[in-house]
Amino acid sequence: MQGKKILVTGGTGQVARPVAESFASGNEVWCLGRFGDRQARRALEELGARTVTWDMATDDLEGLPRDFTHVLHSAVHRGDGKDFEETARINAVGTARLMTHCSAAEAFLYVSSGVVYNRADRTHRYRESDPLGGAAPWLPTYPVAKITAEGVVRGLAEALALPTVIARLNIAYGPYGHGGVPMILFREMRKEQPCAVPRDGQNYCNLLHTDDVVRQVPLLWDAAQAPARVVNWGGDEEVGITDLLEYMSALTGVPVRLDRGDYSRETAIFDHDLRRGLIGDCSVGWKTGIARTLADLFEEYRDRIDAHVEAHGAEISK
Ligand code: NDP
Repeated sequence: MQGKKILVTGGTGQVARPVAESFASGNEVWCLGRFGDRQARRALEELGARTVTWDMATDDLEGLPRDFTHVLHSAVHRGDGKDFEETARINAVGTARLMTHCSAAEAFLYVSSGVVYNRADRTHRYRESDPLGGAAPWLPTYPVAKITAEGVVRGLAEALALPTVIARLNIAYGPYGHGGVPMILFREMRKEQPCAVPRDGQNYCNLLHTDDVVRQVPLLWDAAQAPARVVNWGGDEEVGITDLLEYMSALTGVPVRLDRGDYSRETAIFDHDLRRGLIGDCSVGWKTGIARTLADLFEEYRDRIDAHVEAHGAEISK
């Protein structure tokens, strides 16, 4: 992507930071946020992005240019699990301000989440038309944040005739920030903490590497339309969380303690037909992506990971 004027929220986060960094050369990239992480702000600026302090809970966008061609809205206020009113308000008002301010953009991309779906059984492949409702026992305000913002996005896309795509993200991971859910789980393994998994079977997800996130953002912008288009956004492969834990253990030698029980954090798998039709397949296979991410974030295991990848190359696809 070249020569565009791009506005990014959540640019210090796991998902949007690699996008902002990657587009900062060749485009005019502006990042909005509170920037509690000063190092991330500096890194973005060093790569050529402009940063503007904006708290979506309180701040309007006065003084910010209006002539952005593309918007990536990735910021989220997940809430504290209790204050649904405030969680709904912050995500709704921040999103509304952003869309009205950038109503002349060519494309607006809202990063939503699979957490919006009403929970079905763990092998169900969620389609975009499936019932909404969401459930996140670990943070009950989170689905409300996303469903509320989706509503605002749908409404304003149509009212403003702003081409929009709502991309419901699965689990993004890669060598940015904390590395995403797989790396959070790996840190727990390193601390010898037990990993909660279902008593029978396992939870599944569609891991999406940040390389694919970066590559697919412009493709999603191209798919934007008014009324807003909703699309599931995840990796091609269905990855068992227990398989993931065991694979990270095999790569690094760090033992995994599986705690099989009635409670584990549920994940979801998507039906990909719509996404594949719009933006095609992913380029990074999960085994390769996990090996690369571990090697990037945890240097001490690099030699061991390289040796494992060399020995098992045939099983590790893309
Ligand atoms: P992070 O928790 O890594 O980052 C959250 C971002 O939101 C930060 O950049 C933060 O910036 C910004 N933010 C939070 N509160 C405010 C606020 N009040 N005003 C302005 N900015 C704010 O999130 P991720 O990168 O993981 O997630 C990005 C998006 O993707 C979210 O919308 C999330 O729901 C969605 N998603 C993520 C998944 C994943 O696997 N990571 C899975 C599914 C969906 P700052 O602190 O500088 O203000």
